[in-house]
This record gives sequence, C-alpha cells and structure tokens, in this order.
Amino acid sequence: MEFRFTKKEEQFRQQIREFVKENIPQGFIGHRFWDEQHPPSWDFGMAIAKKLAENNWLTINWPKEFGGMGASNWEKAIMTEEVGYWGIPGTSMGISGTRWVGPSLMAYGTEEQKKKYVPLIAAADPDGVWCTGYSEPDSGTDLASLQTFAEQVGDEYIINGQKVWTSCAHYARWLWMICRTERDVAKKHQGLSLFIVDMKSEGLKVSPLKNIVGGHVFNELFFNDVKVPAKNLVGIKNKGWSHLMQSLSYERSGAVGIVGTLQRVFDELVQYTMESGQIEQSDIQQQLADLAIDIESARVLGYQAVWKMDRGEKLTYEPSRDKAFTDVLHEKLSRLGMDIIGAYSQIDVMDKDSRWTQLGGAIEHMYYTSMGIALAAGTTDTQRNLVGQFGLGLPRSY
Ligand SMILES: Cc1cc2nc3c(=O)[nH]c(=O)nc-3n(C[C@H](O)[C@H](O)[C@H](O)COP(=O)(O)OP(=O)(O)OC[C@H]3O[C@@H](n4cnc5c(N)ncnc54)[C@H](O)[C@@H]3O)c2cc1C
Repeated sequence: MEFRFTKKEEQFRQQIREFVKENIPQGFIGHRFWDEQHPPSWDFGMAIAKKLAENNWLTINWPKEFGGMGASNWEKAIMTEEVGYWGIPGTSMGISGTRWVGPSLMAYGTEEQKKKYVPLIAAADPDGVWCTGYSEPDSGTDLASLQTFAEQVGDEYIINGQKVWTSCAHYARWLWMICRTERDVAKKHQGLSLFIVDMKSEGLKVSPLKNIVGGHVFNELFFNDVKVPAKNLVGIKNKGWSHLMQSLSYERSGAVGIVGTLQRVFDELVQYTMESGQIEQSDIQQQLADLAIDIESARVLGYQAVWKMDRGEKLTYEPSRDKAFTDVLHEKLSRLGMDIIGAYSQIDVMDKDSRWTQLGGAIEHMYYTSMGIALAAGTTDTQRNLVGQFGLGLPRSY
C-alpha cells in the first residue's frame, strides 16, 4: 500500500497552485453555487474556465481529441481537490457540462453528438454551458414517475410538460433532459429517454425561482409543443433510465473536491478561532478535532474510490457513500462555524463583501447551501438506500 503521490503528481499540484496565485485574488474563498447566483462571479468563473481550458485543464482527464489531456485518475483527483480547496470558480461550466454531460455524451452519445457538443464544453465556450432537466413538480426522489412527454412525429419529437429546480437554465445554451417516450409500460423505469434540447427552442419558457437566500440559481421550465430533432435523442430510445444511472454516478463522484472545500473552510475557521482566542475553550478544541477526523476520513474514502477507478474497477455504492458522508459534514462544519463566529453569521449571505463578514461569508453560505447539498444529485436518504442495496446487499427498502 503506497500512501504517497508520485513526484510528478506533486509537481502537478504545485503547477495548479501557481495558477491560483496568478489568477485568483488572495483570500478568495469559493462558495458552492455562489458563481451561479451572483452574475459578476459567473463572469469571473467563465473567464477562469477559459484560462483553464487553454491549458487543457478544464477537462483534464478527457481524451485529447475532445479537448482534454488524457490525464490519469490521480491527476484528475489532484485537480479536483485543488479546485475545491482554492474555490477555483467556473470549473463545471453551468454545474452540468464538465461533470456529467460531457462524460455521458462520450460514453453513449452518437459520433455526431460527441463532435458537436463535447469540444465546446472543453473549450469553455459560452455555447458549452448546459443545464439539466430531471426533476419535475411531482417527481424528485421518485424520478421515474416523471410525466413530461416527448412524442415522436416523423423525424422530430414534440415535448410537452414541466421541469423544476433547473440550475443555470438562465445561462445555458443546451438542456440535458429526460422525458417519457412510452406510456404503456410494465414498470415506470421503462419508456424513458434522454434528449439534447436547444434552450432557444420555440415554446420553451424559462421562469426564475429564487432560492432560500434570495439568489437565482434555479428555474422552472415549461414546454409547450417544443420541437426537437430526432437526432438529439441520446442513447437508446426507452432505455434512458440505465443511461441516467451512469450519468448520476458521474454527478455523485468527485468527493475529493468536496473534501477540498471542507478542508479550506475548516482551515480558515481554525485560524479565526486562534485569532479570536476561542481556541482556549476545550469544548471548541474538541469539536474542531472531531471535524478534523471526519474530514480526513472523508478524504481517505474519496481516495479509495479513485484508487478503485485507477485499477479499472467500476464504482458501485462508493459515490453514494461519499455523498452521504460529506452531506452531513457540510452541515456539521457550518453549524460549528455559526457557533464560533456568533452574531457575525447573521450577515446577509448575498453580501459577502460587507465589512462585518467573516471568512468571506463562507460559513453562513455553507450553512444555507448545506440544506440544498443534501438534496441535489439525490438526497442523503437516497444515498443511504443505495449503500444499503449495493454496498451491503440488503433488500431494496424503497
Ligand atoms: C442545489 C440544488 C440544485 C438542483 N439542481 C437541479 C437541476 O439542475 N436539475 C434537476 O432536475 N434537479 C435539480 N435539483 C433537484 C433535486 O434533484 C431534487 O431536489 C432531489 O432529487 C429531491 O427531490 P425533491 O426535492 O422532490 O424531494 P422529495 O423527493 O420530495 O424528498 C423529500 C424528502 O423525503 C425523503 N425521501 C423521499 N423518498 C424517500 C425514500 N424512498 N426513502 C427515504 N427517504 C425518502 C427525501 O430524502 C427528502 O428528505 C436541485 C436541487 C438542489 C437542492
């Protein structure tokens, strides 16, 4: 068992830190979902994404022909960890693009789809920004119950229905979407298909939804006879559920990045506690030590998943295990942070430049986003169900 990175990998980590020094303002703490709800940060994120793309770092592990550099799983993990720690913005190209749309298209898209869409994401082109339409008003955890219907008429599909919680739809050029394509099915997981939808399509209405702090990340999408060319079907018609499971595993993986973010906020909190003198209190010391153990444990779990991928093994329950664990850690860290910074934690979350804001607003922002993080990409409960089923071999409980 080797618990060290190679010299080459350590050098790569240093290169990323040089990039951070040159391009990210000192003291910058990235917040999850901050870029998306704060227009100046979105523009800054897109500019950083462009610079990363110029180094082929935005999609580092993608094949060279699609704008990556064919990096190893470990190099990708180092990049993800540093992105999380330094809060390098813009790296997901609208939450979806780099993380699951590109990998999904490369896995099961047509050659034409790969050539048309994937390089735009890797190049950080504004036409490479995607959003994702899975959830509907009555279908979240029970996603297979979704009702939005795509009816094939000749060489096009006509879509009617509604999606909700569509992050970044107001920035996106394309929508990655699941629809029902067959109503008469034995099981609700059958008869579903994935599509690429042009966000400029006639009949598609994007309506903003404000989140808990008044920020605009989410949208509702209304489809009224939206026409989509048949060539925009992705994968096999009516077999969309199994494709979707693959895409969701891309979405849920990458725990090392989340650990990077948790570590950074934790480090800043420890520093604050030392400067404020609260470090003298033994209960605070105990709670910080407890969190340090948790964060280190999460990192080791994240590395284990990378190690497995590096051996060519398929991940099964690991992304769910890691998401369930880090969901809880977000809440735990932000609650302790709120206790430590006290009344300062009541500053308006959207005003991270207030002179009273501590730690760049990271604690109060994490406190509010921890609720959403526990829902997005499948709730913490869903992840526990999946660990039970696929990790422990328990009978399906839902
Ligand atoms: C920040 C954020 C970004 C998002 N972005 C997108 C996006 O871009 N596109 C998109 O399509 N969706 C997006 N979503 C929506 C997200 O996928 C859903 O919120 C999620 O799937 C949960 O669905 P729901 O909100 O309907 O909750 P519900 O499914 O109604 O769940 C409510 C509660 O019941 C529990 N529960 C439900 N069923 C079970 C069960 N069988 N066993 C145990 N517990 C259960 C859940 O764990 C949860 O606590 C986003 C959500 C958030 C918070």
